[in-house]
Amino acid sequence: MTAALLLSLIIFAPPSDLLTVAESSDFTLTSRHAQVMDLLDRIEARSSIMRRGELGTTVEGRSIPLVILSDPPVENAAQARASGKPIFFAFGNIHAGEVCGKEALLMLARELATTPNHPLLEKLVIVLAPIYNADGNDEFGLNEEHRRGQRGPVEMGLRPNAQGLDLNRDYIKLETPEARAMVRFATEWDPHVIMDLHTTNGSYHRYTLTYETPRHPAAIPGPVEYTRNEILPVVTKRVLEKTGYHLFYYGNFNWRGPPETWATYEGKPRFGGHYHGLRGTIAILSEAYSYASYRDRILCTKAFVEEVMIFTAENADAIRKLHDETRMQVIEAGENPQPTDTIALRHRIAAANQPATILGYEMEISERGRPRPTAIERDYPLVHLDHYESTLSVTRPYAYLIPHTPEMKAIIEKLIQHGITVEPFEGEALCEVYTITYVERAERRFQGHKIVLADAEANMVKKSYLPGSHIVYTAQPLGNLLVYLLEPCPPTG
Ligand SMILES: [Zn+2]
Repeated sequence: MTAALLLSLIIFAPPSDLLTVAESSDFTLTSRHAQVMDLLDRIEARSSIMRRGELGTTVEGRSIPLVILSDPPVENAAQARASGKPIFFAFGNIHAGEVCGKEALLMLARELATTPNHPLLEKLVIVLAPIYNADGNDEFGLNEEHRRGQRGPVEMGLRPNAQGLDLNRDYIKLETPEARAMVRFATEWDPHVIMDLHTTNGSYHRYTLTYETPRHPAAIPGPVEYTRNEILPVVTKRVLEKTGYHLFYYGNFNWRGPPETWATYEGKPRFGGHYHGLRGTIAILSEAYSYASYRDRILCTKAFVEEVMIFTAENADAIRKLHDETRMQVIEAGENPQPTDTIALRHRIAAANQPATILGYEMEISERGRPRPTAIERDYPLVHLDHYESTLSVTRPYAYLIPHTPEMKAIIEKLIQHGITVEPFEGEALCEVYTITYVERAERRFQGHKIVLADAEANMVKKSYLPGSHIVYTAQPLGNLLVYLLEPCPPTG
């Protein structure tokens, strides 16, 4: 497919009953769950190719809707895979006060579903989940209470789910039904591209939207490099040309003193943006700028998602090949582990080779001693702290053996929830046995837990495993993820 063909697409003005809540309120309001479901019903009624699915059910029993778009239509993961097309997945509202992704995806769903012979749907299977944190979404409160400083809408939902947990810190422990549903979806559909849509209220700058890729050093490098070297440069340029919106890598200025660094966010795989990197998937975090108008945030998020879709369609063969090869590489690495092949457990932030020029403003210090922007634009050449490097890693093992004890049941269950293959094992094995030698428990709770760091001593022994024991081979597509999950993580290194 040529870019010209896609660009020639004409989108007609939508009929008034297919307008989103944001559009019909002149970009002052956002939709409740019931309004999202109603609009999807109306779009579906006008479309011959749109199908509906369900990502899962929330704590309070709300359905998390999926919009499934392809031409000819597909209804489920098996049909999507059988179509041979790349599967593109975008979701909004993981943090339910950050609503521009939800509204942008509803507009995109309408355009894709109701435009006759949409060229993107010939090349892609597109799956959209506009309202992931559906319970949080309906906890409406005033802007000043839920998203202080964000420019509209008037009211919006809350960040956490109904258990009070942050869904974007739950990708490893999977304590929420929503995160378990998301990970089940990732295993079942195994999308080629995932986009996670947020709004950020960090540093003041001139980008309408910032983005990031997985940055944990245990991420499988191929998809990350492809996203940074191929997808994002093209998409950034096209969005600017078509809309005038500037995009760049997510970051914040150093808080104190004159700007010297532009630093990305925390690199832990409990964030979806990093988790999907350990699974070997092209994953893009989108952060619309809180201080841009609500309308600009929605339109910029929409343009960004659309351009990534177009790029994916134009490069369908290369992306499919990369996806399959990445999975094969991990399997092969596990079949014949090499002493030089290591997987990172701990990391520290590191600078890019090149400085970055960040579009910002001249800053001044407020009466309360906080930096705030003036109206004067200024470009800052800064050290770009854009990735993480390993400070402690482990050689990829052949397999992990899990003894048959009552405490291990929960571990097995968790691995299966992640989509990791766990097999029964019994008999003797010569293996390294870990004995925990050190435990450090955090003073304060994080997401309801005191985080534990542990160190272990490894000894080579011959050991008998009773029936009911399990083995987890690293020769499987989620090999990197399972190593990260199963290794003890010492506090230093
Ligand atoms: Zn967010």
